[in-house]
Amino acid sequence: MSGIFPKIEIDSGKLGPKGLIISGVHGDEYEPVVAILELQSSLRKVLTKGALTLIPVVNQNAFFRKSRTGEDDKDLARSCPGIANGTLTDKVAYQISNLIIESDFLIDMHTGGTFFDIYPLAGYMLHPDADILTTQRAMAKAFNLPITWGTNPELEGRTLSVARDANKPAIYTEYGGGRYNPHAISELVDGCLNILSYFGMLSEEGHKPSMVKYEVEDYRKSSGHLQIMYPSPKDGIFLTKATLGNPIQKGELIGEVYDLNGENNNKIVAEEDGLVFLLRTIPSVKAGEALAGILPISQPGRVHIK
Ligand SMILES: [Zn+2]
Repeated sequence: MSGIFPKIEIDSGKLGPKGLIISGVHGDEYEPVVAILELQSSLRKVLTKGALTLIPVVNQNAFFRKSRTGEDDKDLARSCPGIANGTLTDKVAYQISNLIIESDFLIDMHTGGTFFDIYPLAGYMLHPDADILTTQRAMAKAFNLPITWGTNPELEGRTLSVARDANKPAIYTEYGGGRYNPHAISELVDGCLNILSYFGMLSEEGHKPSMVKYEVEDYRKSSGHLQIMYPSPKDGIFLTKATLGNPIQKGELIGEVYDLNGENNNKIVAEEDGLVFLLRTIPSVKAGEALAGILPISQPGRVHIK
């Protein structure tokens, strides 16, 4: 079967790990795509061990629709490990899953897409294998965004679920969304380089001071599932009052959903103390769609949630 997505292969010609760096699993997330395109030119000079496969846009059909999903409306991040002769998204899921299984580690970069803005974080599954968990923690930390976030390992359908089942260390990142943000690019490029450095694949070691402020491990069942956070109580227009990356206290206002008939508005308040890490950027909202996400952390440092 021919590849559905274009791949960039970089081989140092020396023994070493085989890494896979991907973005564009969702078609409306752009900064990581540019980061991978920038990464490939610098890597050709500095990669001294192992080999890399870079895929700037995994989900091309969704990308050219400017949409999270492709024409069959299936979410690629819920369709792995895929079906060889299924719908378009099933096929893409199948091919990317096979690449993950053949690789030694995975970095999968995302943004909040058209609808959400996300405070930068590097996430991983709380893998049952202690060695893999240790590597994933180290990768997330090396990526050097303000939050590292370990979540429930039982979620299915993701690229990370495929990596989990194949015992391959993997992280994903979230950074921004909504309006295109060129400032994200260099941080994403540096993050990938830091991980390659961690695996000993680069000639130069980066020694940048750590930007990680919050190291969160959340063992609760639904942790890591963004779409169920603060669902809108009704159809209407959402106006946010909270600020991304800021602390918020239980009872404080996140925003308000107004009826379009002007009759009443619903105040959306924080149900727990924490950090506002996800905010809806598109005011139009249907009942049940996510408005915001709060991480249950209130101060910098390590947080462990059972
Ligand atoms: Zn995404």
